[in-house]
Amino acid sequence: MNYIVLDLEWNQASDKYIKDYGLPFEILEIGAVKLNRKMKVIGDFDEIIKPQIYHTIHYITTKIINLDKEELENGRPFPEVMQEFLEWCGRDYVFCIWGTLDLTELQRNMVYYGMDELSKGPLMYFDIQKFFSMTYEDGKIRRALEWAVDYLHIEKDIPFHRAHSDAYYTAKVFKIIDAFKPEIEKYVSYDVFMVPQNKRQEIHANFKTYSKYISREFPDKNTAIEDKAVSSTKCYLCGRNAKKMIKWFSVNGKNYFSLAYCRKHGYLKGKVRMKKADDGNVYVIKTLKLVGEDVAEEIREKQDKLRLQRMEKRHMKKEKAE
Ligand SMILES: [Zn+2]
Repeated sequence: MNYIVLDLEWNQASDKYIKDYGLPFEILEIGAVKLNRKMKVIGDFDEIIKPQIYHTIHYITTKIINLDKEELENGRPFPEVMQEFLEWCGRDYVFCIWGTLDLTELQRNMVYYGMDELSKGPLMYFDIQKFFSMTYEDGKIRRALEWAVDYLHIEKDIPFHRAHSDAYYTAKVFKIIDAFKPEIEKYVSYDVFMVPQNKRQEIHANFKTYSKYISREFPDKNTAIEDKAVSSTKCYLCGRNAKKMIKWFSVNGKNYFSLAYCRKHGYLKGKVRMKKADDGNVYVIKTLKLVGEDVAEEIREKQDKLRLQRMEKRHMKKEKAE
């Protein structure tokens, strides 16, 4: 298996144009570095895409683009470059990205041009930005690529913010992390541009320190939270059904929490995030994590607070009615 370290540059349309074209980000450059299992560079990809939709770069740009108009006009259409890119990727590879956005936008552009999907259901990848945080920081804070390059004293021999150069630096960061902590590769990420359409496409991932479940689509939140697979709180270490101490409840209608207890491993905190699919349906991302008494207490307090608020509301309604 090879690693495809990928970076994209894109132009962001203003709201008016998103409505017209249904494509918020038009990809303008694809850059990638191919590494083999031993982290040796075995190939480069560097192509500019001629804009088809948004011809001027004066809209908001999330990624700072260092591309001039002439370069862009000399580029080739997205489907042509993308096809070539996929052939270059080969058969057995995993995408490695700095952050979480690129694969979603890549797939959205592919759909826009009617190309075949990259995967059925969520697409597994390595988020190198997350790996960096897990290796050198708290696992949550997200740094800019240049910050990580400085931190690791990597020589800055080419300018940043072009697709290939950012892929080049991401590959260098990844190489250092992987040499230092090869087990990091267990912590895969999933891009959910393609939401699971059936049980077979759902993701059940066990990371030893927590488990993650990405569900298929449901018509609404209530149907989702009542589903057996969604509401289940199986301990990810022993596979036993942990006893529910606090059933799933939601404070804001978006995130749901629960508390369960495994006789062998202790408290299990459940969190469900409700996500909206492009077609208006919902799907969930559930994480289960073994926690201590302190976190268990936090969940109890959260639920107590919610109960109290509801009681007060009912009380106020009653007073009003009287
Ligand atoms: Zn257990």
